Amino acid sequence: MNTAYLLIGGNLGDRAAYLQLAVKHIEALCGKITSCSSIYETAAWGNTNQPAFYNQAIQLMTPMAPEDLLKQLLAIELEMGRVRSQKYGPRTIDLDILLIDDKVLDTPNLTIPHPQLQHRRFALLPLAEIAPSLHHPVLDKTVSELLVNCTDTLDVQKK
Ligand code: ADP
Ligand code: MG
Repeated sequence: MNTAYLLIGGNLGDRAAYLQLAVKHIEALCGKITSCSSIYETAAWGNTNQPAFYNQAIQLMTPMAPEDLLKQLLAIELEMGRVRSQKYGPRTIDLDILLIDDKVLDTPNLTIPHPQLQHRRFALLPLAEIAPSLHHPVLDKTVSELLVNCTDTLDVQKK
């Protein structure tokens, strides 16, 4: 069994309802969700001319291999109507794998830990709420330490 930490997010439609629906799909298809952060709201990153994002971090116990978990998450994104139009563009749902235990993986389709984690307050803040002392195997720091060192200036508000 693997312990995976995911970040779920979206900025279209009823954002809270989409997060809830994503959690349901993940539980049905990927394993058992053992912890959920609060929902946080963040102004859109990158392409800023779009609605603000809702984000939530979850802890998932899963028997799936990392590649299979990613496949399943991408299938849920599709099922929930995500259309990939532009990089950093608006989306109903985005499912990212932040960490899986102490696994380190770098393939064309999947990088674990998520390569942007340490640069994104909107990922670190919800993750720190549920797993502050979780260890980042590449940077050799805890999530709390990454958050303290993060220079991202985007305001992240707990809902
Ligand atoms: P982003 O999440 O950066 O806005 P996308 O959701 O469109 O971008 O993801 C693009 C691709 O990133 C996915 O198809 C997937 O193959 C790849 N990817 C690489 N590492 C990860 C990861 N840790 N979690 C989720 N997707 C990843
Ligand atoms: Mg993604």
